Amino acid sequence: MIFDNTYACELEGAFAPWQPAQAPRPRELFFNGALANELGGDLVQWPLEQREAVFSGNQVPEGAQPIAQAYAGHQFGGFSPQLGDGRALLLGEVIDVQGRRRDIAFKGSGRTPFSRGGDGKAAVGPMLREVLIGEALHALGIPSTRALAVVATGDVVHRERSLPGAVLTRVADSHLRVGTFEFFAARGDTVRLQRLLDYAVARHAPAAAQAQDPALGLLEHVCQKQAALVAQWMGVGFIHGVMNTDNMSISGQSIDFGPCAFMEPHDPATVYSSIDQQGRYAYGNQPTIAQWNLARLADALWPVMKGTEDEKLQGAQAVVQGFEAEFNRAMASVWSYKLGWGAAQDESMLEAARSLATFWQALMHQHRVDHTLGWRRLCEAANGEYRAITECFGEGGQDAVQWIETWLHETRAMNLEVDTSGLRRANPFVIPRNHLVEDALGAASREGDLALFNRLLDAVRRPWEDDEALQAYGEPAPPELATAHRTFCGT
Ligand code: AMP
Ligand code: MG
Repeated sequence: MIFDNTYACELEGAFAPWQPAQAPRPRELFFNGALANELGGDLVQWPLEQREAVFSGNQVPEGAQPIAQAYAGHQFGGFSPQLGDGRALLLGEVIDVQGRRRDIAFKGSGRTPFSRGGDGKAAVGPMLREVLIGEALHALGIPSTRALAVVATGDVVHRERSLPGAVLTRVADSHLRVGTFEFFAARGDTVRLQRLLDYAVARHAPAAAQAQDPALGLLEHVCQKQAALVAQWMGVGFIHGVMNTDNMSISGQSIDFGPCAFMEPHDPATVYSSIDQQGRYAYGNQPTIAQWNLARLADALWPVMKGTEDEKLQGAQAVVQGFEAEFNRAMASVWSYKLGWGAAQDESMLEAARSLATFWQALMHQHRVDHTLGWRRLCEAANGEYRAITECFGEGGQDAVQWIETWLHETRAMNLEVDTSGLRRANPFVIPRNHLVEDALGAASREGDLALFNRLLDAVRRPWEDDEALQAYGEPAPPELATAHRTFCGT
């Protein structure tokens, strides 16, 4: 790997140089060959021993400059002026085979100056969960940070129980967060805030450099990316779980989805995270929370915006309030695909998609239908086979049939046709089902047995298929498991 460390070189004051802890007995649990290919260089030829030495943190690769990044963040609404990488290290950046700059970072590599009370470690289970979810999102075409490797350290990590420790190596378009801007804003350090702005613009929103106000240009860019991202999450029923401002990336990738889960029975109030007792980050709240976070980004960028106070207020408000329209458009476009219509051609098509999809999901909610299957079974329904969908709806079968006829009627009325292969491409069959994720992580963590994990990983990497071998992965959890499911961030 050839490192090119712009963050460490250009953003003095935004990090602490640091070294990873030593792992007593590294053992590779996961290596992402496909992602290694994207990164290029000689990585794919590294022998196992070299991967275990490097991706456990025992041997810092040549050219890397490990640093713990500084950031602040609003967590569950409350502001912490200093969070930072308490158990993560950025090794540096590499330019991949497409010429794209990508961060390579560790998670679970030991204490740092930002650790506060934490041990800086990570357990095998939560790190393998991050692999599964990142690969699933990626396969679904949703921007996400991804795992390159997970190496068990041989250490024991003390949580409620003692657990085997691991280091995850993560690849991201960058680790700049809303909270990175909040860090300098909270200190009143306008010089470094401006430097961070210039850096973020150059890396993620180069067009904003030409804008009359680059800070506003960046804000607009992030609003757009987040609107598209959250709309895609909503389409597949993904619940991030901990959308604090330190877990929202400037690049628009999904990041730090610790206690995340995919929703099973459709219900906007669904929360799986054990720490989210008020339901702040419930499925249906995600767009509102994204907008709230973007208002925090606007606050943080305030000192480096241009113009009078009034002009700044008008500009920032227009962008943050505009998120709603931006999100609604992105969401309607997702619905259009999920209804088998492909890309929406105009406003009236978006409106039709919005109203049909809203009605469909209300029916799913009313009859407690599995979000994934409720959508997927439209594939058979489009061909006039209603058995699969009416089974999903149980007593609500007649409601479902009525809606389907309205859908097909409206489709014809717009001179459209349901594209059944498009319908399959927009409505996955396989998502990482919570009970299967738990089983796989349990076996890996308790017995070191990776068989279930590897099979589930293969399945979530081909979410659109539904061959015989995948049938078990498409089944919803038994009802008693589905409602009782809780996720933990494992920190
Ligand atoms: P998260 O909820 O994972 O996004 O983490 C929030 C903050 O807590 C970040 O600053 C993390 O670096 C820090 N943190 C989480 N777990 C640990 C740990 N085990 N040791 C030290 N810091 C941690
Ligand atoms: Mg975080």
